[in-house]
Amino acid sequence: MTTESIEHYINGYKTKGESDRYQDVTNPATGQVTGRVALASDADVDSAVAAAKAAFPSWADTPAIRRARVMFKFLELLNTHKDELAEAITREHGKVFTDAQGEVARGIDIVEFSCGIPQLLKGDYTEQVSRGIDNWTTRQPLGVVAGITPFNFPVMVPMWMVPVAIAAGNSFVLKPSPLDPSASLMIADLLKQAGLPDGVFNVVQGDKDSVEALIDHPDVMALSFVGSTPIANSIYERGARNGKRVQALGGAKNHMVVMPDANLDKAVDALIGAAYGSAGERCMAISVAVLVGDVADKIVPRLAERARDLKVKNGLELDAEMGPIVTAQAHQRITGYIEKGVAEGAEMIVDGRDFDTATTGEGCTEGFWMGGTLFDHVTPEMTIYQEEIFGPVLACVRVPDVATAIQLINDHEFGNGVSCFTESGSVAREFGRRIQVGMVGINVPIPVPMAWHGFGGWKRSMFGDTHAYGEEGVRFYTKQKSIMQRWSDSIDAGAEFAMPTAK
Ligand code: NAD
Repeated sequence: MTTESIEHYINGYKTKGESDRYQDVTNPATGQVTGRVALASDADVDSAVAAAKAAFPSWADTPAIRRARVMFKFLELLNTHKDELAEAITREHGKVFTDAQGEVARGIDIVEFSCGIPQLLKGDYTEQVSRGIDNWTTRQPLGVVAGITPFNFPVMVPMWMVPVAIAAGNSFVLKPSPLDPSASLMIADLLKQAGLPDGVFNVVQGDKDSVEALIDHPDVMALSFVGSTPIANSIYERGARNGKRVQALGGAKNHMVVMPDANLDKAVDALIGAAYGSAGERCMAISVAVLVGDVADKIVPRLAERARDLKVKNGLELDAEMGPIVTAQAHQRITGYIEKGVAEGAEMIVDGRDFDTATTGEGCTEGFWMGGTLFDHVTPEMTIYQEEIFGPVLACVRVPDVATAIQLINDHEFGNGVSCFTESGSVAREFGRRIQVGMVGINVPIPVPMAWHGFGGWKRSMFGDTHAYGEEGVRFYTKQKSIMQRWSDSIDAGAEFAMPTAK
């Protein structure tokens, strides 16, 4: 098995950088090491930021429509190479190929949105705010901005940030997850082919050290982070202390309420896909089913049958429904949560630890495999209810009515996504109004907002106030300037000592 070196990308070229630290990259389906990724030193971060800083003035001065044309070309290239990107995701992350294709497609949506940047940056103008005076506002790019991204969406999450930031005229330093770093270099290559000037987009591969170097770097104006809540929280605090603009999206515990009047066939399909798709390693995965009234007795046996029948195999096989867990450590963590669920008294309905690896495909028995786990009678005091497991584990909580369901969800520390399955318009309306969660689905299990709506959770699922992508994303990567102007023929003679007011 050959192993590839996965390097940084600075000022338009791949470079191994100055550090001699590396981390293995593993295919989770086979357990084989497929590459080693460089881990940046402070000096490597400095070089990337310096390249971005040098490239910024001329890129920011490039007319927005010309920047948009680079995005259009990038869009075309992404569409040509989307399956190569999806395959790279499956090899390093493990998610099934069709799911990886979906991830790439949702990333491409945001490139399409960014192609409209001239319209998005159009300012506001008021004529004659006082006699002979006009006032307008415009939005200008920040400078060098950085993005720190998680392992679970190595293309989509960078695309939440990079196209919007770059189209708005910033230069960018991306620090991807070292678990699946290859896609970042493919993105860099496609941006270069699209005509992006060298230095506008850079990648530093790395771990905690490079993240800290970026947070503390005086030339980095803003940080977008997506990952787990404790790290999101600390990046938000440290970034803010350093005077930076920060949006830090964190972890989740997403509930799906099933009302007695819901279409239960559709609700079962939705729960199975949203709990076990991508092995539950999605920040919008459903990890808690809130079953109202007699719904549990009707659907838990059906969920159990479907969880047992999941096709868990190498994601490159096209009929796979669920792939492996990303790393051996994550496998161990999830197993620990399952043990805790049993110890704390949840009823184990399907035990994913019993999974037989013989069915995973050729050469895959050493991968990080488990099946889907289903618990019933989970209660709010249990660890498996409170904490994010980030694996294929679905917890069923039984509640008597919708008011209890809403209270339960509102009391949880996370507030990323939520869903309610019902055929009642008034339940749906009340649910949407009263729920304390940032992204809500009505009969939609994974309500990831479209490119022009923006993504972000509430409570401890997000730190900062502007959501990722959409118009909020454009606002995050730009600052508003107000210009007030008049010409001398409208200026009265003499100094004015009173606060100026409209004349
Ligand atoms: P993670 O927090 O371990 O890592 C995220 C990024 O931070 C990576 O680039 C990683 O290298 C870096 N990092 C790791 N430890 C660090 C430290 N101590 N200091 C500074 N940086 C550090 O997250 P992950 O395991 O890669 O991804 C899974 C998590 O991300 C889950 O909690 C999931 O819910 C969350 N997530 C959230 C969203 C969202 O939109 N809210 C989207 C995707 C993933």
